[in-house]
Amino acid sequence: MSTTPNGVHALVRRSHEERVLRVLRQHGAQSRNEIAARVGLSRTTVSEITGDLLGRGVIRVVDTDAVARVGSGRPAERLALDPASGQYMGVDFGHRRVNVLVADAAHDIIASGTSRYEESAQWPERLDAGLALIERLSTDTGVHYGALQAIGVGVPGWGDRSRADGVAEVFAERFHAAVIVDNNVRFAGLAEALHAQSDSVRDLIYLRLSDGVGGGLVVGGQLARGSKGYAGELGHVTAVPGGDQCRCGKRGCVETVASVPAILGRCRRLGVPMDSLDELKAAVDIAHPVVDEVLREAGTAVGRMLGTAAMTLNPSEIVLGGDIVEIAPALIRQVRSTVTYELSWLTDAAPVIRPALLSDESGALGAIAALFHESPLLAGYEANVTTDGGRQWP
Ligand SMILES: [Zn+2]
Repeated sequence: MSTTPNGVHALVRRSHEERVLRVLRQHGAQSRNEIAARVGLSRTTVSEITGDLLGRGVIRVVDTDAVARVGSGRPAERLALDPASGQYMGVDFGHRRVNVLVADAAHDIIASGTSRYEESAQWPERLDAGLALIERLSTDTGVHYGALQAIGVGVPGWGDRSRADGVAEVFAERFHAAVIVDNNVRFAGLAEALHAQSDSVRDLIYLRLSDGVGGGLVVGGQLARGSKGYAGELGHVTAVPGGDQCRCGKRGCVETVASVPAILGRCRRLGVPMDSLDELKAAVDIAHPVVDEVLREAGTAVGRMLGTAAMTLNPSEIVLGGDIVEIAPALIRQVRSTVTYELSWLTDAAPVIRPALLSDESGALGAIAALFHESPLLAGYEANVTTDGGRQWP
């Protein structure tokens, strides 16, 4: 966060703006005088802020107070949030589809959609599909993007900064909004932390077992990125020294034991023909002993790694995502018992280990949540949340 005078000024202004939006969110249409009285700002400051919000299409004039007005003077305009004004956008590019969510100033989702593409589709094609979907949502729902404040974009994979920068550039140029791009598994982890049953989940490890094994860390209620953006790459912790070749270049990573292709491949090598999750499910349903053994091996490797990660982070929850977690409960059982063993000496600090509550398509939700969370102001306000659900403003 900038500490220059300009930075502080911008921050104060943003804080005022948030307060005005909050009043309109809570109390509906208001005149400028009513807003000024409710937020405790001068009429001049409120006029300046509402002028800017009107200009950006965040709010609109709905009527005047002429009807209810007693006494003389010019009727005052009443202002309200524009319900069709998209303020935040979350986009999640998966291997086979892109999801888009649009939220208004009140953080409510006002439009959402999915568009599919072939797994072989290259980036330009995927981007085009995403942008076409965004246009289609506007046509179908009337939502407009002229006032977008920020866009969060989730992309699969890890470490490709130039792709991330390219994606950010495309969205920033198109929508003139701030853009953050991150790994979609990491965004899904944040979405899980926000949707946990307990409000107190501020420290969470998310691991997705899919075509690869990816992770996301939520620390103190914030997504942890690390110094270069690699925090949470738990799939590439070595599980079997000298084991199978991993796509990262090393051998024996957790991913070579616990990703879906690794599990299917191990079953085949042990003489059980298997090419898909459906076939795996069928084998699990009849309690095939070889398949059960392969799943337990994978669960042990994942559990050891998560035990170590849990000793580093002391999370309250560990969440496992990916289709295989639903298909193969033996896997999650083995993870649970291994982590429990690893942490057995920490009698009062054992994390809850659970399957993901949200689907694998939760990246867009996490991306949009990251935007709300990453605003330095919103993050700072977390400590001021009152018990009645409202917030105390500084
Ligand atoms: Zn690896």
